[in-house]
Amino acid sequence: RRGGHAEVCLTRGIMCSMFSKDARMNTPTAAPLTYRVTLSDHARSDAQRADILAGELGFGKYFTDHMVAIQWDKAQGWHDAQVRAYGPLSLDPAASVLHYGQEIFEGIKAYRHADGSIWTFRPEANGARLQRSAARLALPQLPVAEFTESLRQLVAVDHAWVPSAPESSLYFRPFMIATEAFLGVRAAQAAGYYIIASPAGAYFAKGVAPVSIWLSEDYARAAKGGTGAAKCGGNYAASLLPQQEAYAQGCSQVLFLDPVEGKYLEELGGMNVFLVYQDGRIVTPELSGSILEGITRSSILQLARDRGLTVEERKVTIDEWKTGVASGAISEVFACGTAAVVTPIGELKGKGFAVGDINAPAGEVTMSIRKELTDIQYGRLPDRHGWLVKLA
Ligand SMILES: *Cc1c(COP(=O)(O)O)cnc(C)c1O
Repeated sequence: RRGGHAEVCLTRGIMCSMFSKDARMNTPTAAPLTYRVTLSDHARSDAQRADILAGELGFGKYFTDHMVAIQWDKAQGWHDAQVRAYGPLSLDPAASVLHYGQEIFEGIKAYRHADGSIWTFRPEANGARLQRSAARLALPQLPVAEFTESLRQLVAVDHAWVPSAPESSLYFRPFMIATEAFLGVRAAQAAGYYIIASPAGAYFAKGVAPVSIWLSEDYARAAKGGTGAAKCGGNYAASLLPQQEAYAQGCSQVLFLDPVEGKYLEELGGMNVFLVYQDGRIVTPELSGSILEGITRSSILQLARDRGLTVEERKVTIDEWKTGVASGAISEVFACGTAAVVTPIGELKGKGFAVGDINAPAGEVTMSIRKELTDIQYGRLPDRHGWLVKLA
């Protein structure tokens, strides 16, 4: 609850938490949003929820009983903040998101600690990134404090959906769409911000196993001057065909190169990538304007520096990867992102070549960074960088 200002009232089954009378949130200095909380009349029972949480959760398969919805328009700014039953959105068929793809999203988790408390990881970084994505997609910027508050509001109602099994979490999917009903091509003057949440099991249910990835030489996920650095659905739409190509080659993900020269590593469809050298260097492609700046990436860079590893953020050619792995100079390669945390890459395949060994065990540096990061997230190690924020 925000700084003691919260008041909660229960009126005929409608619970409202009031922070302020001023619902406008179009500037960072505006008063905080007032949430109207309406509990679902078809929420799962304790037994039904327990059944779901005890089974195979997978990823993005089950959703909690409630969602956050906040509206924005040019005249009123942010308003009408609600926590309400999870359910379909009603959109005008002319809503610009459906025609011009004006959409952005985030991915962030809640972790249950051993004492039952619920925490999230660097929400101000996700909130700031949502603002940068919004700026690029000409959508309104939600204040960062309001982003964190929106997570807290959902957890206040759906806290029982945060699982407690090892390496499980509640995955939040905040997103923003242009809702104005207008076919003219310009930035929409009305938008909606939502959060849905999905209990997620350990990403690698059978232990962390190296994956095989496919080098896409025919497609890019982003363009110079395009939206690669924004977390937007459009980038993902562009990555799905190459992803199918990867599956057809027996690979689970795609590696994209820079869109200008087709020579430098960028990232996977939804994860950043790191190379670990035998001599103790850890290398990741520098932010190019078309790479998505992952919060896992930035956290790993910090943890690597803390360990005294030599960290290099620079241009990395695809030849450096191929020859480095072949000669043994590169001992480990991994991908990282919020959903899977750290995924070892065993093998890189492309037209007419394959390097690495999919059957080799996951690398030591990879696994120890993965463990350190998850130990911090689950409260098993001290949070020395102040990355954790308590939600409940
Ligand atoms: C979300 C995302 C990542 C990983 O970012 P995290 O903040 O670490 O989850 C990497 N690449 C793309 C394209 C993404 O959308």
